[in-house]
Amino acid sequence: VSAAPVVTRFAPSPTGFLHLGGARTALFNWLFAKANGGKFLLRIEDTDRVRSTQPAIDAIIDGMRWLGIDWDGDVVMQFAGADRHARVAHQMVEAGHAYRCYMTNDEIAAMRAEAQAAKKPLRIRSPWRDRPASEAPDLPHVVRLRAPQEGAVTIEDRVQGSVTVRNEEIDDLVLLRSDGTPTYMLAVVVDDHDMGVTHVIRGDDHLNNAFRQLPIYRAMDAIEGGWPDPIYAHIPLIHGPDGAKLSKRHGAVGIEAYRDEMGILPEAFDNYLLRLGWGHGDDEIISRDQAVEWFDLSGVGKSPSRFDLKKLENL
Ligand code: GLU
Repeated sequence: VSAAPVVTRFAPSPTGFLHLGGARTALFNWLFAKANGGKFLLRIEDTDRVRSTQPAIDAIIDGMRWLGIDWDGDVVMQFAGADRHARVAHQMVEAGHAYRCYMTNDEIAAMRAEAQAAKKPLRIRSPWRDRPASEAPDLPHVVRLRAPQEGAVTIEDRVQGSVTVRNEEIDDLVLLRSDGTPTYMLAVVVDDHDMGVTHVIRGDDHLNNAFRQLPIYRAMDAIEGGWPDPIYAHIPLIHGPDGAKLSKRHGAVGIEAYRDEMGILPEAFDNYLLRLGWGHGDDEIISRDQAVEWFDLSGVGKSPSRFDLKKLENL
């Protein structure tokens, strides 16, 4: 039991509309924060400069307002922190937890071909991993994590249970690109730390990423302390009635369409989202206040929930 107050966040990438899964993630984070007297923060992950758009940012904020999911403090724009992210990467290089890698695209392609021939997933271990920094040429490079090679990491996920991955399966992922900008893996860890996030609640398509993010927390904790592992809860994705991952062909659209085209009221939509993956007895209608009182992660199911357009139309 940690004494730190609960802090959760919703961290969408503004590359498209706010969809059902995202809205549900936001709602679960909000409810968990409220149920525990904590804070809920909003961070727009706009580090992908090509795919991030202002209309997508507006749609996310507009959608959250419609659903009555309010956040504490200002919206954090991730790209604005790029200098801070780079500084952390350099701290890691100096302390030996990361290294400058000068591999060319051809060398990486050769490694990929080798892995394919051996029918193994590509796991980059660059030759630069073991070269002294003094040999590093003054050439463009990326910064890679010096991933631990031995042992294993176990996550006690609040939804998935205990999940273990051997460290040899984790590659030396890129922290800083050759233009000096941070990757998602680095930015998400630095921001969650700096924002004091205690619980990372998100879709289980990110479970694999958690094993790539933890080594960054642990490196920084070894360097300066105060970077405890967050508590993870990875929520199963929403599936269509046919069991496949939810997509447009199931009638899943940006949430504004449920409002504008179907005329659904936010209370009803919230209730639908809540019941999509969280169970509380047989209650069909759960008020906001009841949800805040009752919400806990142990009520989140382990198998994907099914989206049913008809049910939504009948609200
Ligand atoms: N920005 C990521 C996404 O939209 C989520 C990051 C996270 O929740 O850790 O998929």
